[in-house]
Order: sequence, then C-alpha cells, then structure tokens
Amino acid sequence: MAIRTSVTTNWAGTASCSPQRVAAPTSTEELVRIVAGATSMALPVKAIGAGHSFTPTAMTDGILIRLDRLDVGPLQFDTGTGRVVCSAGLTLHDLNHQLHRLGRALPNLGDIDVQTIAGATQTATHGTGHAHPNLAAGMTGFELVTAAGDVRWCSPDSNVELFHVGRVGLGALGLVTRVELETVPAFNLRAVETVEPLADLLADWTAFTRSAPHAEFFFLPGVDRVLVKRNTPTDAAPSVGTNRRTKAEKLLVENLAFGAAMRLVRRAPATRSSVLSLMSSLTSGATRVAPSHEVFASPRHVRFVEMEYGIPVDAVPEALERVRRLVDTLSDPPSFPIEVRVSAADGIPLSTATGRASGWIAVHRYQGTDHEPYFRGVESIMDDYDGRPHWGKMHFQTAATLRHRYPEWDRFIRLRDELDPNRTFDNDYLRRVIG
Ligand SMILES: Cc1cc2nc3c(=O)[nH]c(=O)nc-3n(C[C@H](O)[C@H](O)[C@H](O)COP(=O)(O)OP(=O)(O)OC[C@H]3O[C@@H](n4cnc5c(N)ncnc54)[C@H](O)[C@@H]3O)c2cc1C
Repeated sequence: MAIRTSVTTNWAGTASCSPQRVAAPTSTEELVRIVAGATSMALPVKAIGAGHSFTPTAMTDGILIRLDRLDVGPLQFDTGTGRVVCSAGLTLHDLNHQLHRLGRALPNLGDIDVQTIAGATQTATHGTGHAHPNLAAGMTGFELVTAAGDVRWCSPDSNVELFHVGRVGLGALGLVTRVELETVPAFNLRAVETVEPLADLLADWTAFTRSAPHAEFFFLPGVDRVLVKRNTPTDAAPSVGTNRRTKAEKLLVENLAFGAAMRLVRRAPATRSSVLSLMSSLTSGATRVAPSHEVFASPRHVRFVEMEYGIPVDAVPEALERVRRLVDTLSDPPSFPIEVRVSAADGIPLSTATGRASGWIAVHRYQGTDHEPYFRGVESIMDDYDGRPHWGKMHFQTAATLRHRYPEWDRFIRLRDELDPNRTFDNDYLRRVIG
C-alpha cells in the first residue's frame, strides 16, 4: 500500500526527510516485492518505526517503509518456552498489553513504550538494572527480509551468524518483520522515589546500582540533591486508588509543570537554581505498586533533544563529576536533568553494552535551545572512557572514531557487505557511523 506524503520528521524534530515514496505493505510478500524492486533500481530503502530516534537513523530520500500494517498473523505465545512471536512493527505499548492479558511481561523496559519492537531493538534500547541487558538481548529469533528479497528466520539454530549480529542491526542488514522474545510471568513493581544527596550515591556507587533491581537517578546540574527511582518486583497488589492519582501527578509534574519551568528558566536564567530545586522536590516522594509496564514507562510530552553514552559502569562517578564541572563552565547551562542508569553486558557485536556492564549518562536540552556546546563537551569526556553513543540518540561520532570501541565491529561489517553489497539499506547516518 503506497501512501503519499511530503516530509517525514522524527519526534524530537531533529531529523527529517522527503522520501520518494512511503509504503506500508500489508504482507511479507508485498514487502519482498518492494525491496527487490528497489534493489534492482538502486533505490535506497529504510524502515521507520515510531520515529523516536533523535538521530536520522530512519531517514531516507528513497522508499520509506512503515510496518505497522504488516499482517504476520496474531501474536503467538509458547507456554512451554515462555517465548512470544509478534510483528516487528508492533509498539512496545501494544505488546505489553497483549502480554499482560496472557499473564506475561518483558523483564525490563526503558522510559517510554511508544517505540516499535524493531526500532527499539535495532538501536539497542535499554532500561536500567545491573542484572538486566538491553531489549535486543532478550530476542531469541527474528525474521529478516534481505536486500536480495530473501526471507530468513534467524535464531541460535538457523542463520546463526545473522542472528548473532542482526539483533542490533541499525536497520543496515535488512527489514525485520517478526520478532521472538523471551518473556517472564507478569509482575508488579514497587516504585519508590526519593531525593538524596548526589555525593552519597556516588560515594558507594556499586551499592547504589544494587540498591534495587532497577535503580536510576535524575541529576539536575546545579542542584546537589538528585531524584532517585528504585523499582523492585513485589508480590503486593497494585496500590488501589493511588495509581490513577500518581499517574496524573506524574503527567502534570514530569511533563506540563516541567515544560513550564523550562520555559521560565529560558526566559529568566537567574531563576534556574531555585526552579530546579523546586522541581526536584515536587517530583519526589511517591511510592506505588503497579504492573511492571505501567511503572517502567511514562508519557513524555515535553520535547527535548538527548545524547546518551554507555561507559564502563565503574567509571560513572568520575565521568559524572567531570560532566558536573563542565556544566559549571557553560555560558548557557542546561536546565534539564541528566539521567543515570546501568545495564548488564551482552554479546551482540554492535550493542552499546557489548562485552561490558554499562553505566549510562544521558544529557538533555529543552527543544529549541542550542545543545551543541554542552553535548560536544560531554562527548569529549565520554571519549576518555571509550564511550559508546546510543545509536538512536544524538552524537557526533563517525565510523573512524567508533570502530575500535566495538571488539566485533568487523564481524558486523563483513556480514553487511555480504548481505547488502549495493547498500539498499544505506542512508546518510549509516554512511557516517558505520562507513
Ligand atoms: C522520549 C524518548 C524516550 C526514550 N527513552 C529511551 C530509553 O529509556 N532507553 C533507550 O535506550 N532509548 C530510549 N529512547 C530512544 C529510542 O528507544 C530509540 O531511538 C528507538 O530506536 C526508537 O524506536 P522507534 O520505533 O521510534 O524506531 P525509529 O527511530 O523509527 O527507527 C530506529 C532504527 O530502527 C530501524 N528500523 C525500524 N524498524 C525496522 C524494521 N522493521 N527492520 C529493520 N530496521 C528497522 C530504522 O531504520 C532506524 O535505523 C527514547 C527516545 C525518546 C524520543
């Protein structure tokens, strides 16, 4: 099915393109015909998920494919293995709800749930948790349409190399149509939010990372106390009555009030420190129990731009202190919190956490402010730790600066050369970051 459209823009407004054509195939056969036709005409093809990458990773001037109408049959749940097979274009939100009805859940999630499963996994999207790897590490199989128009099922038993490499493929190896994921029995989380001195958390960083299965904090530069979130699985029932109120408060404080505060700080920079202190006290103090997917993800109505780096987990306190000193030197300091998370290592060649337990430092700027001096400054600090930028978030790296940071980089490049020699799935972003 072809859709006429002029310009496609991502959520953050940081990337756009004018594709020759937007296609929303309804069957794998139709998708194969589109890809094979494009390859024979040397037309580039890209899939776009929910457009929630800050980088132009999903942009193309050729054929832009949306997979949200692809019919690959209903979600299939295997009671024996606990695995689920679903459409790659399904959003995490829809998957979570379907799993919940089956009494299942994903073990971990990031901050939002609007991404598609393919979009989230192709860029190594992660949540927080010292024992939890990123979402792609939970894949046990996927179906890929290659540039030649082949349809391949990839798993630890079939197309093994492609499975190993392609779970985090940046959309460079082909189009993912179906995904198989590990699930766990549905669980509730007890979410506890506190405000604590940053110095205390960093004084025993390892203890902090293990203080809950899912621990993170938000640090507002210029304010010494940070908002800490600790989520712990519990057998307790959801806290009846408070959930709706807590959700409404979160929506108000984390989005609407936060947006107003950011606008105030932009207009009157001298108010920055007091506004930020007030915001950090307003957003804290909540404790609730709710199904895991409701706790992990929350809506984001304030638009921002973001850069996030994965570094060796033990390097976080030092790196964060350097970022703090950097912010003190900026003529236009950021008023948006720095998010600090952790995740377990995995073995996927282009995963940002490949081979190392990672600490994540995510810096943000309110949409419309000049992010470059801040982001470049933070990036040069992260370079000293062999930092790996999130593939879906802003950064200034190139293939030349990145390749030595991934031990299995060449393995990915070899497979890409074999599968897509004519670069059907190329775009400007891929040319910059993988060559
Ligand atoms: C508000 C906000 C909050 C976020 N929170 C987090 C977070 O907590 N943790 C985190 O790690 N990241 C987070 N991100 C980043 C986000 O998870 C990633 O950028 C993710 O890739 C977005 O998914 P998407 O469906 O929008 O994919 P898109 O951005 O549309 O596409 C991403 C990439 O996947 C490719 N792709 C999409 N579909 C397919 C397919 N079917 N086959 C092959 N390739 C495909 C695209 O071509 C592109 O290269 C956040 C982003 C935003 C805007």
